[in-house]
Amino acid sequence: MKRLVREYRLLTLVVLLQVCAIAAHGQNIRMSVDATDAPHNVLHTRLIIPVKPGPLSLFYPKWIPGEHSPTGPLNDMTSLHLTADGKPVPWTRDQVEMFAFHCVVPPGVNELEVAFDDVSQPGTTMSARLARVKWNRVLVYPRGVNGDAIHVETTIKLPNGWKFATALPVARERRNEVDFKEVSLTELVDSPLITGANFRKITLESTPLHEMDIAADSPAALEVKPETLLGWQNLVKEAAALYGGRHYRGYHFLLTLSDIGGSEGLEHHESSEDGVGEKALSDTAQLIDLGDLLGHEYTHSWNGKYRRPADLTTPDFEQPMQGDLLWVYEGLTEYLGKVLAARSGLWSAENFHEAVADVAAEMDNQSGRSWRPLVDTATAVQFTYPSARAWMNVRRRVDYYFEGMLLWMEADVIIRRQGRGKLSLDDFCHKFHGGQTGPLVKTYTFDDIVTTLNEVTPYDWRSFLNERVNLINLRAPLGGITGGGWRLIYNDKPNEEIKFTEQQRKFLDLSYSIGLIVNTDGVVLDVNPELPAAKSGLAPGMKIVSVNGRSWSAETLHDAIAATKQGAGAIELGVDNGGFHETYKLTYRGGERYPHLERDTTAANLLDDIIRPHAH
Ligand SMILES: [Zn+2]
Repeated sequence: MKRLVREYRLLTLVVLLQVCAIAAHGQNIRMSVDATDAPHNVLHTRLIIPVKPGPLSLFYPKWIPGEHSPTGPLNDMTSLHLTADGKPVPWTRDQVEMFAFHCVVPPGVNELEVAFDDVSQPGTTMSARLARVKWNRVLVYPRGVNGDAIHVETTIKLPNGWKFATALPVARERRNEVDFKEVSLTELVDSPLITGANFRKITLESTPLHEMDIAADSPAALEVKPETLLGWQNLVKEAAALYGGRHYRGYHFLLTLSDIGGSEGLEHHESSEDGVGEKALSDTAQLIDLGDLLGHEYTHSWNGKYRRPADLTTPDFEQPMQGDLLWVYEGLTEYLGKVLAARSGLWSAENFHEAVADVAAEMDNQSGRSWRPLVDTATAVQFTYPSARAWMNVRRRVDYYFEGMLLWMEADVIIRRQGRGKLSLDDFCHKFHGGQTGPLVKTYTFDDIVTTLNEVTPYDWRSFLNERVNLINLRAPLGGITGGGWRLIYNDKPNEEIKFTEQQRKFLDLSYSIGLIVNTDGVVLDVNPELPAAKSGLAPGMKIVSVNGRSWSAETLHDAIAATKQGAGAIELGVDNGGFHETYKLTYRGGERYPHLERDTTAANLLDDIIRPHAH
């Protein structure tokens, strides 16, 4: 099937003007990227764009696929120079659309040279030993032209001795330079490259090629445990069993291991960018986190890349995307990614239970549920995704991931109960994501989801989804847990998933006892307005300096909360509120509280059926 091309009437005039200025069909943009300064966070790029004399607008990619937002890093584009026949061509930026640049191509000129630098913010896409090259950062294209209609020939120069991997087909390699085969602009942007001084490629399956490509800050970080390798191989098999087909010619997991190269998780049709910490392959907690990440991003090749919401599918990098179906795009992916991690053995059943408990408790305790339906967290993705930690509980954030996960787990359990063990959400995936094709986009709408669910098993799926997605619900959808033979409970034993997040982000998550998230320095990051911390007056930004008269430490606060079960039922906190010292008294008797799943033996254990290995 063809990529959906929508009509954009407002842009028709712009498109017509640009078509006059770009050259005859068949000529390609030639792009040379010099990555030899990658260790200093700089990429140099030079583009030769076929043009015709007259007005021309160039566009720097703004709406980035997978990010669902206008996140093109425009501020990182520096030293822009346009030249024609060796002479400078003046440019101006559009007053309204700042990603667009206007110029006039001089008479007799048929090629325009565009050169600029991409200065990456330290710790985002590169380290001293590796780099993630995202092509959308290093190119401009004639504005208004469909990404499929533009073809690009790309060359990259790498730092000496660095190796690389990408889904992009290679035409020629010589020393540290690589020429790639001509591809459409759409495919190019969907096929990033990783490069690094310490590099390893592991074939997971040879036909078609599934490869784990690893760039790391140190040679030691490349060491892979045998059970991890087996889990990765199982992941490929389990995904094939789940979806019943693939939509890629080969698949590259582009794994970068660096504490300062920035964490990343971005999906593509034939690859994924999976960025984690340097020690991720040896540290147990980080390895569990990586299993989830790989399952999630790999799932996107089917759910997000092949099947994509129609209103998230745009013909270029300028048309705005609409996020209202992200509870499918990201929510279903969040669910299936975790299920695949468990089915492939990268996660234990206990890891899965703890992760589900963590998500269920967080969603169920969002006070923002009282004003904001789930769909609004998706529609407002441009704001919810980068939103600050402060006041997140009352604002809600990207709940379309986590509540979306709970919603799809509930749908899975309903199908299993209705189908008396013969049907499951796997059948939905076969119908919705299955078949064998190359990389293409098949769009869908809300109605298509309802129709396919009804093909699997008749049920009032429209009302089921409408109620959970579009209406205000004071409680999270926990039917997948209860229907799956488990209960969400709270006790004083730390939740493993929460403990990992606390260690990574250096904070204490006391959300389910006094309703407080506080960093290890005592700074309040968020409160739940319904619970004792906020009720006593605590608010984000305040710094706790003492607990029951003793100097602040994480341990002191933990001890004070634990002691409330036997003690006076109060905690006194000394607080620095913007330079003013204040005292807050919390009334609380519940001790420490963390979420877990507990087996309900009166019901069938469907959750563990869901995560049992399915591939032969
Ligand atoms: Zn995702």
